[in-house]
Amino acid sequence: MSEKLTELFGSDVFNDATMVERLPKKIYAALKKTIENGEDLNPNVAEVVANAMKDWAIERGATHYTHWFQPMTGITAEKHDSFISPTSDGKIIMEFSGKELIKGEPDASSFPSGGLRATFEARGYTAWDCTSPAFLREDAAGVTLCIPTAFCSYTGEALDMKTPLLRSMEAINTQAVRILKLFGHDTVKKVSASVGPEQEYFLVDKAKYLKRDDLIFTGRTLFGAMPPKGQELDDHYFGSIKERVASYMKELNIELWKLGVTAKTQHNEVAPAQHELAPIYATANIACDHNQLIMECMKKVANRHNLACLLHEKPFAGVNGSGKHDNWSLVTDTGKNLLDPGKTPHENVQFLLFLSAVLKAVDLHADLLRISAANPGNDHRLGANEAPPAIISVFLGEQLEDVIAQLIETGEATRSKSGGKLSVGVQTIPGFMKDATDRNRTSPFAFTGNKFEFRMVASSMSVATANTVLNTIVADVLSEMADELEVAENFEVALHDLIKKTLTEHKRIVFNGNGYAEAWVEEATRRGLPNIKSMVEAIPALVTDKAIEVFGKHKVFTAAELHSRAEVLFESYAKAINIEAKTMISMAQAKYIPAVIRYTKQLADSINAVKAAAADVDVSVQVGLLKEISALLAEAQTALKKLQEITAKANSLETVEEQSRFFKSDVTPAMAALRGPIDALEVLVAKEVWPVPSYGDLLFEI
Ligand code: ADP
Ligand code: MG
Repeated sequence: MSEKLTELFGSDVFNDATMVERLPKKIYAALKKTIENGEDLNPNVAEVVANAMKDWAIERGATHYTHWFQPMTGITAEKHDSFISPTSDGKIIMEFSGKELIKGEPDASSFPSGGLRATFEARGYTAWDCTSPAFLREDAAGVTLCIPTAFCSYTGEALDMKTPLLRSMEAINTQAVRILKLFGHDTVKKVSASVGPEQEYFLVDKAKYLKRDDLIFTGRTLFGAMPPKGQELDDHYFGSIKERVASYMKELNIELWKLGVTAKTQHNEVAPAQHELAPIYATANIACDHNQLIMECMKKVANRHNLACLLHEKPFAGVNGSGKHDNWSLVTDTGKNLLDPGKTPHENVQFLLFLSAVLKAVDLHADLLRISAANPGNDHRLGANEAPPAIISVFLGEQLEDVIAQLIETGEATRSKSGGKLSVGVQTIPGFMKDATDRNRTSPFAFTGNKFEFRMVASSMSVATANTVLNTIVADVLSEMADELEVAENFEVALHDLIKKTLTEHKRIVFNGNGYAEAWVEEATRRGLPNIKSMVEAIPALVTDKAIEVFGKHKVFTAAELHSRAEVLFESYAKAINIEAKTMISMAQAKYIPAVIRYTKQLADSINAVKAAAADVDVSVQVGLLKEISALLAEAQTALKKLQEITAKANSLETVEEQSRFFKSDVTPAMAALRGPIDALEVLVAKEVWPVPSYGDLLFEI
């Protein structure tokens, strides 16, 4: 397997090795220049590349190609065209031109645009992103050549997730290179954001999944009583992997490896039926594309194993939800990680400058990071009853916190705490040097050795926005720093003062304690850190003057694009909750209430039958149960009617913003009010009468 694996890896990707093999040297060199230095692509080069790509794809069985893009829905979209082209003799040849490679024109009118494009102006273009390699995808439709593309409107506004990410990568590149020049690193031509997103997911049995409309329509359970066993035993986390899940993971890895995705780590997560997959990090843009492929493959492979993969942030109430840890760092084209402190961070001034830039950026733009991680599902995690908290703070760990404290206090850092030797107390287990800093699992933004880990991102979401924000806000602070340092009379002194000043002004964002504790909420309020509890409350951050200024300055988003994104987010929230409410209504009406009514008849029949058989027998159990169930049934019916009314009212409101605010403030409580009695009924009513699989069935029986 291992030998085969090296051959298998990337076998479905038109990667560098394939390009070297198949492109004329000159063409390859020209394309490389575009990929690496962002130079304009000559149409002749595109023509040759397209032809080579087509030949390669056809040899591998492809009949179609598609521009693969990432509209603001957060998932991917594609439109397939075949390679066939008719000839005058009534036959066909297989063709693929440079023009077709570079530009596509899907009908853009059905994708969210947030008012950027009226439906009568349906034109939208997809444009080849040559920095992310094309790949082949095989499914029931056959083999398709997929070309990663950006998606924009007729007037050039971004309609997707990739375009702003690419723009933000240019911004951070420009600014970081400026800083590095000041430190004398003239050989560095490029700095890229590196990203490693860890993906959490749930697996449930497909047949059971298909019995639950809520899972089918909304991706999460809208009803469900807790089983006798939840996650309290902590016996699932890192537990041995069940056979069925193991065979799923094996196939998933193979599919991903073929696509050049470096699937590396897999393990069981905290909740029963929850798992995680982490790839090895890559350039932000590629990591983002790969994360989309990971999510697609997870679903596709699950199907083949009669499983359903749930990517929702909170598929089960009361059970740990899923997130995506976005590991982020900056690396140079000379192979240096700019966030690597080395063994003695106090001496590493360049590192301290980048570190203080990140701290300042996160402190100034916590609201932007918050919205970059917001979706309807994540409302059940961030700021609700589980972690990470909605308040953004940065965990640095003991070693760095100590260095910073020295700098702030005395203006100088003279020592770095080291990890020391770890001994387990058993002779035969070798001792080793431990890390200078322990981990902190509760921080939303943690420094983990040589990268930051942004842990708020939603599991089902694209990681593009989170990284677009991170790149932009850090680029902005770096640009200010460069402005100041470039004109300094004495670089060393100015640098020293700048680090000290930045750390002093923004140290409030650093928090190394327990982020789940109630005391932290109070402390954060004292520090003036925002606590934005929901998606609806987070959206306006996108259109503040501050946001328009920072995104505008670095050409990542225009004001119009930001307004359109806010609009799309409001709309997506309203739509999501509307679907949830309607699904609840239909499940209550068509499934739960009829089942409970049937059960009350069974109880009543039993009471009558028992009484008829022997008048002096005690039927108080049946009677008590019947009363209790009937009361809950009435409560459910009232809540159902209320939910119907409130949902109708929400839909009658004028703007998507009003709608989504009302869905949050009024519809979600009405949903909870319906769920309450139904979940209470689930534990009272006989199991065989209950119309859908329970939490226990879903979580423990695969
Ligand atoms: P944990 O679950 O303990 O946080 P994992 O090993 O599961 O850690 O995931 C860590 C992730 O961080 C991996 O995807 C890894 O490739 C990524 N990573 C490591 N170094 C960097 C870096 N310099 N930049 C970005 N991501 C990184
Ligand atoms: Mg992690």
